[in-house]
Amino acid sequence: VAVADSAVVCPHCDAVGDLRHSWRCTSCNGPWDLVDWLIPSPADLGAGLASTGPSWLAALDPVSLGEPVTPLVGLDDLAQGAKVYGKLEGSLPTGSFKDRGSRALVGWLRSVCSDHVAIDSSGNAGASMAAYCAAADVDCDVYVPATASAAKLAQIRAYGARVFAVDGSRSDVTEAAMSAGDVATYASHMWNPYFLVGTRTFAFEVATQLAATGSSVASVVFPLGSGSLLLGAYHGFRALLSAGLIARMPRLVGVQAAACAPLARSFTDAFPDGPCSGSIAEGILVAKPPRADAVTAAIAETGGTVVVVEEPEIASAHTQLARRGVYVEPTSATALAGLRRLPRSEEQAADGATILALTGSGLKSAAPPS
Ligand SMILES: [Zn+2]
Repeated sequence: VAVADSAVVCPHCDAVGDLRHSWRCTSCNGPWDLVDWLIPSPADLGAGLASTGPSWLAALDPVSLGEPVTPLVGLDDLAQGAKVYGKLEGSLPTGSFKDRGSRALVGWLRSVCSDHVAIDSSGNAGASMAAYCAAADVDCDVYVPATASAAKLAQIRAYGARVFAVDGSRSDVTEAAMSAGDVATYASHMWNPYFLVGTRTFAFEVATQLAATGSSVASVVFPLGSGSLLLGAYHGFRALLSAGLIARMPRLVGVQAAACAPLARSFTDAFPDGPCSGSIAEGILVAKPPRADAVTAAIAETGGTVVVVEEPEIASAHTQLARRGVYVEPTSATALAGLRRLPRSEEQAADGATILALTGSGLKSAAPPS
């Protein structure tokens, strides 16, 4: 196994460091970026656009659980005249997009001989990291809120991860996982830059799939919590643009629940200041996304925005997707609810397709009241 590069730089204060020794900037406590993002060569990216089975993560020696290219399903009938596809991330091995990031992140852990990892998550990230750690023979400790749902914990435990229930707030859970860093590597998907190396494959796949139909990506709508899928996709589309493989950056749109919309404040004066609890979109209730600055800058650079949706809109979108045969978790339904909030004329006039990032399977979560 090749040793993956662990040289990191802080985008906030320019400090440099080694990811093996510190999971966040030692000067300002911000999230690290990689010095070398291991961007595939234009030839490798182009090969991917021309065929299937590309090696977009070859520089990393990622862990594999046989990941498919996730399907795109046409949803024009739900979109009032725009060309819209849903990308079904629930078809990944553990049922969510998190597998994209986990396979790269655990690939890095394995390459630096880290055999014990600590994370904090009660949901899809915990299950995904537990699965990829199982595949790579890495011990995985998952810190969860004492209130976490039994169904999600069952999946995490089934992979052999140790679950530590923590009383208190979500930040108390994070603190507990961070302080385990004496004996284990703290490797949160929100902080570790290798997670973004993995999630950028979302962009490579979408561009490949649309190129095969003679179309291109005009915009992508993401459920937005920590922004790890949106930011990785941004990196991916930037790489494709630099290689001359796409003609323009797609507009990136984030959707937050009114119950928790900290990233909306850069885009609207009327952002709600919710409690970050009590929403059926539990996967995006992130009060303080570590990479908030990078995420909002990426959205703004592409001419995108952050829209805020209310609970009844999420439940309605969830039902509409299910009645089309697409069963996603409520968090993912925010993408369709958000699309509905965008000015209709903009999506109809766009030359190219709108992609809804349907981030996780509905099979893991309780359905919302309909
Ligand atoms: Zn810093």
